[in-house]
Amino acid sequence: MSRAVARKKLRVSGVVQGVGFRPFVYRLAQKHRLAGHVRNTSSSVELEIEGDPLALDAFLHDFVSDTPALARLQEVVAEDVLPLGEDKFTILASQDSGPTAAVIPADVALCPDCAREISDPQDRRYLYPFTNCTNCGPRFTIIRNVPYDREQTTMAAFALCPDCREEYANPLNRRFHAEPTACPVCGPNLWLEYDGQRWERHALARAGELLRDGRIIAVKGLGGFHLACDARQAAAVELLRQRKGRQDKPFAVTVRDMRVAEEICELTDSDRRLLASPASPIVLVRRRAGTDLAPGLAPGNNYLGLMLPYTPLHLLLLQHSPPVLVMTSGNRSEEPLAFDNDEARRTLGHLADGFLFHNRGIQVPCDDSVIRLIPEIGPTIIRRARGYVPEALALPLTCPEDILGVGAQDKNTFCLGWDRSALLSQHLGDLDSLETFDYFRYAIEHFKALSQRQPSVVAHDLHPSYLSTRYAQELRDVRRLGVQHHHAHIAACLAEHGRLGPCLGLAFDGTGYGLDGAIWGGEILLADLAGYRRAGHFAPVLLPGGEAAVRHPGRMALAYLQAAYGDAAFQQAERLGLTFSPLERQILERQLATGWNSPTTTSAGRLFDAVAAALNICRRRTYEGQPALELEMAAEYAEDEFYPIPVIKQDQRLVLDTVALFRHTVEDFLQGAPPNRAAGRFHESLARVCLEICLQLREETGLNLVALSGGVWQNGLLALRTVARLSQAGFEVLTHQQTPPNDGGIALGQVAVVAAVLGMQTP
Ligand SMILES: [Zn+2]
Ligand SMILES: [Zn+2]
Ligand SMILES: [Zn+2]
Repeated sequence: MSRAVARKKLRVSGVVQGVGFRPFVYRLAQKHRLAGHVRNTSSSVELEIEGDPLALDAFLHDFVSDTPALARLQEVVAEDVLPLGEDKFTILASQDSGPTAAVIPADVALCPDCAREISDPQDRRYLYPFTNCTNCGPRFTIIRNVPYDREQTTMAAFALCPDCREEYANPLNRRFHAEPTACPVCGPNLWLEYDGQRWERHALARAGELLRDGRIIAVKGLGGFHLACDARQAAAVELLRQRKGRQDKPFAVTVRDMRVAEEICELTDSDRRLLASPASPIVLVRRRAGTDLAPGLAPGNNYLGLMLPYTPLHLLLLQHSPPVLVMTSGNRSEEPLAFDNDEARRTLGHLADGFLFHNRGIQVPCDDSVIRLIPEIGPTIIRRARGYVPEALALPLTCPEDILGVGAQDKNTFCLGWDRSALLSQHLGDLDSLETFDYFRYAIEHFKALSQRQPSVVAHDLHPSYLSTRYAQELRDVRRLGVQHHHAHIAACLAEHGRLGPCLGLAFDGTGYGLDGAIWGGEILLADLAGYRRAGHFAPVLLPGGEAAVRHPGRMALAYLQAAYGDAAFQQAERLGLTFSPLERQILERQLATGWNSPTTTSAGRLFDAVAAALNICRRRTYEGQPALELEMAAEYAEDEFYPIPVIKQDQRLVLDTVALFRHTVEDFLQGAPPNRAAGRFHESLARVCLEICLQLREETGLNLVALSGGVWQNGLLALRTVARLSQAGFEVLTHQQTPPNDGGIALGQVAVVAAVLGMQTP
């Protein structure tokens, strides 16, 4: 007599490949004595289970509640099928069929089990720098194609040894189907090249010695090369700055362990959790005073970009080297990350004294992610890359066609959208160098291949000379739609929160192409995904000499002085100690009098530049965002006095009198207010005027939802004050949590806008 038998077929989408999902299913089937199979397809994991109906139910219960830690289930579709009378459960070879959803996992930091093995002298992976398992290791950076199998990764070059093969084939082992698994017998190896010699044995110890001697070593890691040096040796840090052509921009550090991190920085619980998370990003944390770190590490900055060793290689290196290492992207400033050995020898040869190489290929380079935790607001992603990419973001609407958003120019990322998924690329950099532009084009093709999508619509910025715009214009057989820069910012913020709008959008950034040909950047929009109205903006001022004023904050201060004091501008500049050469003065006078070569701008970033220069906090800008960052760092956090900022109604738009804000700040300073207090009051005043504008617009429109986007919102003090004031007044406030508020989020907004616009055209 036979008992009732049922069979179910399940299709599971989400992050389900490379995260130990099939072993998990296998073990679960064993536990509940079910037959059937599981396999990866290019778009999902597919499984069939057969057995006692009650056991099937129990399986499904565990299936949802015990999902592996790194897996993210997006959708599970189950159907009943006819039983086949099977009595075994098996893992089948992958099946390649149809377009993929986002199933490629991100790279994962070293897990505690693997960390234990490499420190255990009895273990066969003792001190092996490429140890990994289904819970950790490289993924995105080694994958050539889908489905995710070893043959489709750069590990295909390494045949498994018998021991590794056994682990790989054993469903009860932690390395069951761990595609990049390796050991000292069969896996990649490491060597040091220094002074014409090559060390294979003791490569790490020798590298550690060189670092202690103040040398700069290029280290090949997970997604590219880092340049490393001892963070406590001022001369080494200075030398690295000189060679890299990087004057003041802060360097990030990797520390030996959490204890060392605590010694040099003040960590909150959230900082600790984020540092030790599987993504293991660089976290911007508050530095302690009086440490012996080199002064040139992060000049003018109270924060330090800090990360823990996230690969076994880094962990082992840090055991031999000084406990705090500068680990900065292995490139010349603003060029893409080097990731190939030969290319690194060529491009980094004059930057590094030695190279720590390995022979595991990097298919696609990926920088470290950078996150700042702002109290009461949460994580603000400044750079989204390793550990987060290529995890798909859920869109609040369906893309009627496959869409490519090509992003903006600086901090470029692009985004592929289909169905309700958005795949935002890793941070690629500023598109002004040919190398970065090549990398951008390559990465787009790679993402198209991984997702097996051929976008039929391309969304781009309106700026005609952005290379991303030109790229979009050169594409054949696609439709093109331009999306206004600040609308894309607000749309990105709405989309990542699963919202369609409408909302009040405060888009504050440095530069964005406006519809009137002016440079926008302090914009108040009434927006939903499909459209927007410019409801207000900062007071327009001249940008004397265009880009030149962006590079010289003193010139921007002069433009504001001109707007505030007219002919007395140079006199006021003198009182502030702002000096210009006779030639510079002649040119500036002409530009400000006639508007020659000087577009008007409402940029919020430029206002911060002008105030930082006027208060003598930053008058020399050597990297993007420096004046605003140093202004925030100098500001008194507890300051609660403020300057009144009039809001004027002009042509149906609200104009924030930011020239008056500048004038008040300058006069307070000239009357003896310390610069840190004037800077604090400047921030507080802006937060208050944001509230005032939102109250006025709520009155008019009834809208209660506010979205904050644009690079200016990386400013923790401004964000904190503004969110607090708006929340107190009952507004629902959205800030970026999963994507950067800066131009690294633009591409997601472009996709969301185009999806909404197309959706209206095709009912
Ligand atoms: Zn592991
Ligand atoms: Zn092996
Ligand atoms: Zn922007």
